[in-house]
Parts: sequence; C-alpha cells; structure tokens
Amino acid sequence: MAKKEKTEFELMKEKLFYERKNALQDINTKEEKDIEAFSKDYKKFLDLAKTEREACTYAIEIAKKNGFEEFKYGKKYSAGDKIYFDNRKKSIYLAVIGSENIENGINIAAAHIDSPRIDLKQCPVYEDAGMAFFKTHYYGGIKKYQWTTIPLALHGVVVLKDGTSVDICIGEKESDPVFCITDLLPHLGADQMAKTASKLFSGENLNILIGSKPYGGEKQKDAIKLNVLAILNKEYGIVEEDFLSAELSLVPAEKARDLGFDRSMISAYGHDDKCCSYPILMAAIEAGKKTPKNTLITILADKEETGSEGTTGMKTRAFDDMICEICDNMGANSRIAFANSKCLSADVNACYDPNYAEVYEAKNSAFLNCGVCVTKFTGARGKSSTNDASAEFLATVRKMLDDAGVIWQTGELGKVDQGGGGTVAMYLAKRNIDTVDVGVPVLSMHAPYEVISKADLYSAFLAFKAFFAN
Ligand code: MN
Ligand code: MN
Repeated sequence: MAKKEKTEFELMKEKLFYERKNALQDINTKEEKDIEAFSKDYKKFLDLAKTEREACTYAIEIAKKNGFEEFKYGKKYSAGDKIYFDNRKKSIYLAVIGSENIENGINIAAAHIDSPRIDLKQCPVYEDAGMAFFKTHYYGGIKKYQWTTIPLALHGVVVLKDGTSVDICIGEKESDPVFCITDLLPHLGADQMAKTASKLFSGENLNILIGSKPYGGEKQKDAIKLNVLAILNKEYGIVEEDFLSAELSLVPAEKARDLGFDRSMISAYGHDDKCCSYPILMAAIEAGKKTPKNTLITILADKEETGSEGTTGMKTRAFDDMICEICDNMGANSRIAFANSKCLSADVNACYDPNYAEVYEAKNSAFLNCGVCVTKFTGARGKSSTNDASAEFLATVRKMLDDAGVIWQTGELGKVDQGGGGTVAMYLAKRNIDTVDVGVPVLSMHAPYEVISKADLYSAFLAFKAFFAN
C-alpha cells in the first residue's frame, strides 16, 4: 500500500513539536538482543550485590579483571592507567587516565550503590512471648508497611574486636532460612486499619522474627534468645557483644525476575540505584579498553539514601583527595581540572504511573520505555536544594545523546509541590563541576520490589557509554 503523503500540518508539527520517543517502537532484532543480554547480566548483579559492600566487592573484582589497579597516594599516573579507589569497601571510584591534559576536565559519572533497607540496632537480639527477634532501625526512606510479611535475608559484616571480619549472608540460597516482620491479622486489625498509612507501623515495631526454639528444650527465661546466639556462635564464632561492631541489614530475599508476559521489565530489590550504577560500571569497564581523550571517573557512592554524609557518602573529601592526588602527581592544577569537568549524576527518577496519575504532571514526567531520563533540576518547594543544571550544559548533553542515537527523555519528579527529592548531583556541582541528573525511571521506587524497563536500563548504559567515549 502506498504511503499517504503527509499534510503540511503534519510536517510542521514534526518539525516544531517535541515528542518523546519510545525505545520499543521501531526496535530491531539486534537491539532487542543487546537489551536482553545486558538485562540478564544486570539481574545477576542485583542478586549478588544487594548491599553497598557487596556492590563494591563486585565492582572491585570486575575492575581488577579488566586491568584496574588499586589507587596509591603519591603515585604518578599517566595516559592509559586504570585505577580504582576502594573507599572503605563501601564506595568505589574508578579512573581511566586520558591522553589529554587532565586540566581539560574529567568526565565523571556518579551513582549510588546503597538502597533502602532495614538495619539491625547494635543490641538487636531479644526474646518475647516465646519468640526471638532483632530490633532494627530502618535505612533510607521506606513505606514501612511494604516491608512486613515478605521474606527477608540478612546481609552484612561483623567485625570482631581483633579486627577479623565475618561476612554474613543468610536467606539467599534456596536451602537458607529467611526472616520476616509480622503483621496483624485483619480480624484484629480494625484499629490498625483506621490509622493513616504512615502510622500503620512505627519504626520501633519493625522487629524481625528470628527464632522460637528454646536452647536444650529449657523452660528458662531467654532460652530462645540463647538458642539463636548458640547457632550464630557455632556458625560464625560470634557472641552477642560482637553486634556492637557489626553492620547487618535485612533486605528482600527475592531474586530479580522478569516482569510481564512480554518480559519487557525487571522486578527486583535495589533498582535504586543499581540500575544506574551497573550501567556506569559497565560503561567504565568498556571505556577503559582504550585510552580515552579526557580522563574518566566513575563514582559508586554509599549513603545516598541517608543524605550522602560520612566518609563513604558523596560529601566525603576522599573523592576530592583522589582527584587532587592524581592532578598534583602529574603536575596539573586540580582546581582547573574541577572547573573543566562535567558530571552525569546517575540516579533513578519516578516513572509515571497511571494508577497514581494525580501526583504526576504528564507533560514533564518520565515514562516507561522512553529511555534514560535527563532531569534539569530536582528539589522540592520551589526547587529548593537542587543543582539545576545550566542550559549551556544541558545543550551539550542533548547533543551528545542525540549524536550517539540514545533514546532519552526529560522528566521531573512529580507535580510541583507534591513532594520531591534530590540525589548526589548538588554535591558534585558544589565542587565546581557542571552536573546534570540522568537516570532510569522506576515504578514503586523504594519498595522491596521495584520495577524498571529493560529498554530504559540499556538506554542508560548507552548514555554513559557515549559520555565516556570522548
Ligand atoms: Mn537513588
Ligand atoms: Mn533512593
């Protein structure tokens, strides 16, 4: 059938209107295969790297395999050198030294590897009514009711007084037990259900059920607590006091899975922000295969979910120190390097959800399958606490993405004054680095099981690849 000629109106519209593209329209077989292959590896990463420590370990391993060497203070680096800075096993910076003078600027991609979860308190174990529990203090912004009655796995590390580190991971293998937070039966839930959702569960009541069997069949008080501690002592050589120097977290025990009849999406814990940190890590590894012009730096930060504080959060000086060290030792001026650098701050954005349309503004939201989302500003209440990238910098990002054929869109986080949020962008910008937010749209963000589109994930990878290919 002959194609109908376009009317002048249609041609004018095409020329003048901006329409966001959909990554799955006009997709070819090769692209579909690439998306699927990338998603498959990403799902493996998600299952292996539920905490920042695990993500960091994964990143170090893959970096080492690809010729990255551990960063050393005082060492002079030159073009083609590949280094990684292991910041306390919880955050990592990768650098590929470019052939150009580092004062011409560094291309920086930053994402975070921590995700909302339930942390143990330092004196967590107790017994009540014939059951043993862990006391917890949640980490990051969660809707508490979502975290009850789901299987949870225990991940983390106990550091003994002598410095020995004991890794713990229980609940991931099929044969492992899991843990959970109990909820009230509907039959007795009338008072509970009358509460507003934010009051349904208090943070203090997020206690984890961990046992119910008394030690040696004893009737005595604390026999169940004793039994739990006896098991931990036998398996890990730890005593109750060792929890004082532990970082243990409960995370959803579910594995990453394809979602939908068409398998176009992935449902998993921790998409925020692994769906950005994994693509930038992969882009960095690929970019490191040849010497780039500009120096490239990849940041996998910790503590984003609690405000980027601490030695491993994005406000840390460790990052500046690494760049200053690299510059100083090659006789370059780090202040000039910072001033000429540019950064993609890679964090997830809220994906438009028609089931909650009232909180979004459809003209300026990120949509599923429309590619990686570039967000000029974040913040809340009149753009407060936002980086707000400059029009000049956005123009260069637009050009870069379009030239590389990346499907991308722009979007804000919800309606004006509906809420808001921010990420590490402002801390990079504060260092005199042009920065813009770029990230994958997520449904059910911060829930134990978040959803993204495979095409958007891959589009993020292509965006970071383009950014690093300079
Ligand atoms: Mn995030
Ligand atoms: Mn988050």
